Amino acid sequence: MDLITKSVKGTQDVLPKESYKWQFIEKIMREEANAHSFKEIRTPVFEHTELFQRSVGDTTDVVQKEMYTFNTKGEDSITLRPEGTAGSARAILEHGVYNDGYPIKAYYFTSCYRYEKPQKGRLREFHQFGMEVYGAASYFADAEVICAADSIFKRLGVKGLNLEINSIGCPNCRANYHKALKEYFAEHTSELCETCLSRLEKNPMRILDCKSPICSKIAEKAPTVLDYICDDCREHFEGVKKCLDSVGIEYTVNPTIVRGLDYYTRTVFEFVSSSIGAQGTVCGGGRYDGLIEELGGQHTPSLGYAIGIERLLLLLEAQGIEIPAAPTCDIYIAGLGEKAQLKSFELVKTVRSSSLSAECDIVGRSLKAQMKYADKIGAKFSIVLGDSEIESGKAQLKNMETGEKTEISLGENFFSDFYNVYIQSQFAVK
Ligand code: ATP
Ligand code: MG
Repeated sequence: MDLITKSVKGTQDVLPKESYKWQFIEKIMREEANAHSFKEIRTPVFEHTELFQRSVGDTTDVVQKEMYTFNTKGEDSITLRPEGTAGSARAILEHGVYNDGYPIKAYYFTSCYRYEKPQKGRLREFHQFGMEVYGAASYFADAEVICAADSIFKRLGVKGLNLEINSIGCPNCRANYHKALKEYFAEHTSELCETCLSRLEKNPMRILDCKSPICSKIAEKAPTVLDYICDDCREHFEGVKKCLDSVGIEYTVNPTIVRGLDYYTRTVFEFVSSSIGAQGTVCGGGRYDGLIEELGGQHTPSLGYAIGIERLLLLLEAQGIEIPAAPTCDIYIAGLGEKAQLKSFELVKTVRSSSLSAECDIVGRSLKAQMKYADKIGAKFSIVLGDSEIESGKAQLKNMETGEKTEISLGENFFSDFYNVYIQSQFAVK
C-alpha cells in the first residue's frame, strides 16, 4: 500500500500503545500542579506574530530563525506558538485575571513549533508542560516553582538530573554587563557569525546563547553576569539558594546559563541530564519580571518554567524507568451465536456505565479467537455466553489470573454479582 503522504519532518505520532506513557507523566504533572495550587490555562495554538517578537525577543534564535509564521487571508501575520509563556501572559492580561488578586498560578500543556534541525531530542513540533506565577516578587516564588519541577522529576524516579541556577540580573545591572560584553566581543568581530554581529549592538547577551561552535568558543571567556549584578539582584539570588538549601534541593550555580528567550530577568535555571546526549536540558525556566509590562500591562513580577515532554520521555527510557502500563480490560464477555452476542453487547454496556472497562466481540471472531484476544488484552475476568447460559440466565465468571470460577447471574443482579468478585480480587493478597 502506498501512503498518500508521510508525517511532516520533525513531528512525531503518539500511537495508542504508547499514549499511556504520556498520560502517566501528565497525571503526575497535574497532581504536582494541584499540590501547589496551580490551575490549568489553555490558549490558542497560534497568536499574532507581534506577541512573540515582543516577548520572546526579536534578537533571539527562536524569533529570528525558528518561528512558523504565515499570513492569513486577511493579511494578519500569525505564528504557531514556539513556547507557552507568551500566550498565557497575553491571556492573563487580556482577561484582566489580575483583578482576582495575586499571585496568579497557572499551568499548561502545549504543543510548540520551532523550525529547527530535527535530531534526537529536537523536534519541530514538541510538547511542554509549564508552570507560571504572575505577581510574585519574592524569592520564595522562585524556590516554589523550582521545587515543583524537582518533585515531578523525583516522583518519576529520574536520577542524576543536575539543577543549574544563575542570576542574569535586572535591566539596571544588565546595562553594565552589556557594556562589558560589548567591549569583549568587539575584539572578536572578525570571528563572530553574522547573526551575532547584528546582536552585538542591540543585545550582546544573545551571543552567549549562540549555537555556532566558533561563537560558543569565544563566549566561554566572556565576562560572567554574576560579577555585574546589583545588590538587590544578588540578595534575591541568595534568597533563592537559601530556600533551596532549606528543603534539601541540590543545585550548582552555573554562571553561563542565560536562557534563549529575552524575557528572563534575575533567576534562571535548567534541569540538565547527561543520559540523553547533546539535548540534555529537560526543563528551563526563570523569572520574567518585565514581561507583562512589555506586553502593555502594569509592572508584574512573574516567573515560570517549562519541561520538554519528549525529552523527559527519552530520559525515562534511557534510565530504564518503567511507566505503569495502561489499565487493562476488567471483563471480556465472549458470545457464541447471535443471541449470546446481543447479550454480551448489553452486559458490557452495564459494566461500562459504572466506569469499569469491558469488551465484547466487534470484529466477528470465533469463540476460540475471542478468548485468545481476551488473553492478549490482559482482561482481568471473562465470561463465555452460549445458548445454555442465555437459557439458564447464569454464567461462569472466570478470574483470568487465578482461573477461579464463580457463577453469576445474567439478569438484574449481573453487575452486583460481578462487582463483588471484582472487588474481592482487588484486595486479594498477591
Ligand atoms: P535548547 O537549548 O535545547 O534549544 P531552549 O532553551 O530552546 O532549549 P526552552 O525554550 O527553554 O528551550 O524550552 C523549554 C524546554 O522545552 C527545553 O528545556 C526542552 O526540554 C524543550 N525543547 C525546546 N526546544 C525543543 C525542541 N525543538 N524539541 C524538543 N524539545 C524542545
Ligand atoms: Mg532552542
